[in-house]
Amino acid sequence: MVQDYEALVKRISEASGVGEEEIDRRVEAKRAKLSGLISKEGAAQIVATELGISFDKQTVKINQILPGMRRISLTAKIIELSQIREYQKNNRSGKVLNMVIADETGNARCVLWDTNHISLFEGGQIVKGDTVEISNASLRNSEIHLTAFSDIKKSNSLMEEVKTEIVLLEKKVLELKIADRAKVRAVIVQIFEPRFFEVCLDCGSRARQGLEGGFECEKHGSISSDKVSKRAIVNTVLDDGTETIRAVFFSDHAEKLGLSKDASDFSEKRETIIGKEAYFSGSVRQNKMFGNSEFIINGVEEVDLDRLIEKLEKKG
Ligand SMILES: [Zn+2]
Repeated sequence: MVQDYEALVKRISEASGVGEEEIDRRVEAKRAKLSGLISKEGAAQIVATELGISFDKQTVKINQILPGMRRISLTAKIIELSQIREYQKNNRSGKVLNMVIADETGNARCVLWDTNHISLFEGGQIVKGDTVEISNASLRNSEIHLTAFSDIKKSNSLMEEVKTEIVLLEKKVLELKIADRAKVRAVIVQIFEPRFFEVCLDCGSRARQGLEGGFECEKHGSISSDKVSKRAIVNTVLDDGTETIRAVFFSDHAEKLGLSKDASDFSEKRETIIGKEAYFSGSVRQNKMFGNSEFIINGVEEVDLDRLIEKLEKKG
């Protein structure tokens, strides 16, 4: 989700009548007071609250949604729709539906928990590609959640031009939270011996060593060893000066570190990878075994110095 700081300051200024420069000054003061522990956007939200501005109950664009917002109303197009999942919790069963919605400013994951809402999808009244009007939703972990208090209905308006590419927020490692999709500029300070696993060549599913020498595909059952391909998982530690985080590279992304897909050249390449600085993008999840956060990498971009200088000059 984009949180365009300048757009936010503009909105607070318009709603409060306080000049944009003054709001920017208050945001910096707030951050200084909190030793820089909050983002500019977060500080701007506190400043807005102090100015008596509530963004609740307003129709917003996706790039205007902020952490902690409740009663979000928006119109957006469904660009991805997952299958409905059933779950059991405390002897009760429920359903959950995940989708990605987009408008002209950005896109966001959206989670539906109410069976009445989900039945609209089961009955085909709402399908992928439809434009929907959502009201009373709330933001949790960077996702828009709809509960029984929320509402969703098919909109009569059509949205053609929507932003479908996932927009990643650039963050400091210190600011990363579970479920964030973000981009950090950091240095690889540690890299560990790769771990390996096999996948079925036909379907890409995990294949485990069978009892009699062959392999077992989760989908295909027994398969011979020439039907599997070896994949690697490379664990690293990223550091950007604010904090460190374990970053996990699966095969295809390990290639972006300069390794071969099966990481067979790990020992020769190891030295050249340590110290590598880049923009790493991915999602943050909790490691189930150890409970710590891990950054699952799905993109590596070289640091383009010219572009960086240009950006810094613009800011100055
Ligand atoms: Zn298979």
